[in-house]
Amino acid sequence: MLKKQFMDYLPEELLEMGIKPKFRIKQLYQWIYRKYTDEFEKMQNILNLLREKLSKEFMINPFELINHEISSDETEKFLFKLIDGRTVETVLIKMKENKYTVCVSTQVGCKVGCAFCLTAKGGFVRNLSAGEIVGQVWWMKKFKNFDENKALNVVYMGMGEPLDNYNNLIKAIKIISHPDGMNISTRRQTVSTSGIAPKIKKLGEENLGVNLAISLHAVDDETREKLIPMNKAYNIKSVIDAIKEFPIDKRKKVMFEYLVIKNVNDDINAAKKLVKLLNGIPSKVNLIYFNPYPGTDFKRPDEESMKKFQDYLINKGIMCTIRKSKGMDISAACGQLREKKLKEKNG
Ligand code: SAH
Ligand code: SF4
Repeated sequence: MLKKQFMDYLPEELLEMGIKPKFRIKQLYQWIYRKYTDEFEKMQNILNLLREKLSKEFMINPFELINHEISSDETEKFLFKLIDGRTVETVLIKMKENKYTVCVSTQVGCKVGCAFCLTAKGGFVRNLSAGEIVGQVWWMKKFKNFDENKALNVVYMGMGEPLDNYNNLIKAIKIISHPDGMNISTRRQTVSTSGIAPKIKKLGEENLGVNLAISLHAVDDETREKLIPMNKAYNIKSVIDAIKEFPIDKRKKVMFEYLVIKNVNDDINAAKKLVKLLNGIPSKVNLIYFNPYPGTDFKRPDEESMKKFQDYLINKGIMCTIRKSKGMDISAACGQLREKKLKEKNG
C-alpha cells in the first residue's frame, strides 16, 4: 500500500484519522516543521508504538532533490522529483538583509496556456497535493538549516496556476501558516494568478489574509487574449471587478505583474491605460523583463522602454519596480530549469 503524505494534512484531519491526543499532533508538527525531522524513529518524545504506526502509514519527505543550481546573484533553483517521478521546481530568492523569498509551484504543467510561458508548452500534467506544496517551503528551510523562527516570504509563482488547484492551495496556506508548524503568517504569503475572476472572489471570501498578485501583462482585451487565452472567459474588467472586492490589508497593496515583451505591450500608451485601470485599487506594479527561451518569437524589451514605462507610472503616483532578472544565468524564469532537464534526458 502506498503510504500517505504527512504534509497533506492539517492537525484536525490527523485527529480525525485517529492520531491522538491533540498534543501528540502538536509534537509531530514541531518535529517535522520546526526541527525538520524526516523520520518518525527520531522523534524521542513520541511513544514507540505510535512511531511504528506512523512509519508504516506515512511518509514525511515528499521529494528527492535531483538538481540544484546557484546563480551569481545567489538565487537558487531546486528541481524535485515527486513520488510518481514527475518533476517540479522551486526557487529561493535572496532579498535584502538576509531575507528570503520562496517561489513555489502548485501544479505540474499548467492548463492556462499563456503564449509566453514555458510551463504552458508541456500542457497540464497534474495538480500538486497540499503536501507537495508545503514540502517545497519545508525543504528550503531544512536545506538551508534556517532557524525555526526564521520567517520566509512565500510566493505562489512557480509552475502552475494556483487558483486552478484551489482546495490544495488553501490547505497548503493553512498548513504553512499553522502556529505549531512553520508559522509563516498568511501576510507573508502571496498568491499569483493569471486572473480566474470567480476564484479570486472566492479566495477573498476565505479572508485568510494572503496577498494577491495579478499577472495582468496587458491593458486591452485584444492583446491580453493573445498572451493569456483565458482572458476570453475572464476579461480584464471581470478581473478588476473581482480584485475590487478582495480584502486588502490597510498596509498592503495588490501586486500587478506586467511581463514586458518588446513591441507587444511596451508602448507608453499601455502605461497610460494601466494608470486608468488601476484607479481606486491600492496597487503596486512589477515590470518583468520577458526572459527568452529557445523557440520563442517574443523578445526581451529594451532597458530604455522599461525605464520610460516605470517613470510614467511613478510620476502618476503608482509604486513601480522593475524585477531584476534574478537568476538569469540559471534559467530561473518559470519552468525553464525543468525544461532544460527534460531536454537533456530526452537527448
Ligand atoms: N500561474 C500564475 C503563477 C505562476 S507564473 C500566474 O501566471 O500568475 C509566474 C510568473 O512567471 C508569471 O508572472 C509569469 O508572467 C512569469 N513568466 C512566465 N514566463 C516567463 C518568461 N518567459 N519570462 C519572464 N517571466 C515569465
Ligand atoms: Fe500558467 Fe502562469 Fe505560465 Fe500562464 S504564466 S501558463 S498561468 S504558469
